[in-house]
Amino acid sequence: MQRFDAVIVGGGPAGSTLAWRLADAGASVCVVDKARFPRDKPCGGGLTTRAFRACPVDPSPVVEEEVDVVELRFRYGDAVVRHAREPVIRMTQRRRLDAFLLDAARERGADIREGTTLDDVGVEGDVIVGADGANGTTAKAVGLGVGIVHGVAYEGNASYAQISRDRYARRAVVELADIPGGYAWVFPKGDHANVGVGAWQSEGRKLREHLRRACAAHGLDPESLSDLRGHRLPLRRPGTRIAGERALLVGDAAGLIDPVSGDGMYECFVSSRLAAAAILDRLAGRASSLEPYQAAVDAELASLHRASWKLKRALDRWPVASWRVARTKLVWRTVENLLLGELSSPSEQHGLARLPLRALATLGR
Ligand SMILES: Cc1cc2nc3c(=O)[nH]c(=O)nc-3n(C[C@H](O)[C@H](O)[C@H](O)COP(=O)(O)OP(=O)(O)OC[C@H]3O[C@@H](n4cnc5c(N)ncnc54)[C@H](O)[C@@H]3O)c2cc1C
Repeated sequence: MQRFDAVIVGGGPAGSTLAWRLADAGASVCVVDKARFPRDKPCGGGLTTRAFRACPVDPSPVVEEEVDVVELRFRYGDAVVRHAREPVIRMTQRRRLDAFLLDAARERGADIREGTTLDDVGVEGDVIVGADGANGTTAKAVGLGVGIVHGVAYEGNASYAQISRDRYARRAVVELADIPGGYAWVFPKGDHANVGVGAWQSEGRKLREHLRRACAAHGLDPESLSDLRGHRLPLRRPGTRIAGERALLVGDAAGLIDPVSGDGMYECFVSSRLAAAAILDRLAGRASSLEPYQAAVDAELASLHRASWKLKRALDRWPVASWRVARTKLVWRTVENLLLGELSSPSEQHGLARLPLRALATLGR
């Protein structure tokens, strides 16, 4: 049995960046992933600028498109188009991003074992990390993550032979209020656009129908989409335990997806940073357990996710009123600041721009 300071189960963005950070700090670290990379992961592949900046390795080499125009639409009708002062999302493909980040961790000195599982690989660690995503088993094995609920998402790709390159260039289209607990999107990539829908888990059976409606609104034949895939969106409830004495969870395994946007990569990079700090403290004897990690995650993400839960409920229960507020320039100012990482939560917004946020929070209560 080979021994490491830390063994990380899962080599997605949460696991690979945690491995990079630990190896960079001189710890011995092993990543075990059942897949062989490059592997795909159902995802819109939108790296918000705050995620881009939070990633410890510059992902620029795998960015295919920069987005500085955001088009919000209400039930495939009324639309508002906002121009950001700089790119707010970088579009990548997970097949490329995840392999790139895992290679970076390997180059930093992490031992990467692909195509295998913890049971088969013969390694053990002082610390064990669940980074095995929405369908991982580590959380249960170490008695953490109880209370995570789920949304679902379904997406596919349309080549620019099927969908206009010019219409979607530098633009993210977000279709609100037609899908309970979610939205539809069209995201531009290098040689195709990604089209998808996200929703409450209870909408699972209707996801194909939701995707069909989104395709119709964009002049697409749903049958012509390639690489159609669905996946769960794990959402942590306040108080859900994600750290114990010598085990913790990062990224989707910890249910850290933003409840309203469905984004999770920013949370992967934030949690890997906080996890690395907690693990290094324990390894150095500065802490006797990894439990401080949970409080650190709450301190950075709880306020943002609380606001997201309220907005999600507001859009679900009061779609027309919420849309009237959400389409205003004042709300865009906050959204832009959040995407750029200039605000870590809407609660930090000051002045007049707080008023519509208060209205949305009231609707979502
Ligand atoms: C359809 C969809 C669209 C999305 N769009 C966006 C978006 O545009 N922007 C954004 O920021 N987020 C988006 N998300 C969320 C984002 O995809 C996730 O938050 C992100 O993938 C989480 O990364 P992770 O490293 O935690 O887990 P994952 O990326 O899921 O990686 C987990 C890894 O663990 C491995 N694994 C699993 N079980 C085991 C096991 N037993 N043993 C060994 N290895 C194992 C898997 O092979 C996998 O490589 C989307 C999600 C969905 C479903």
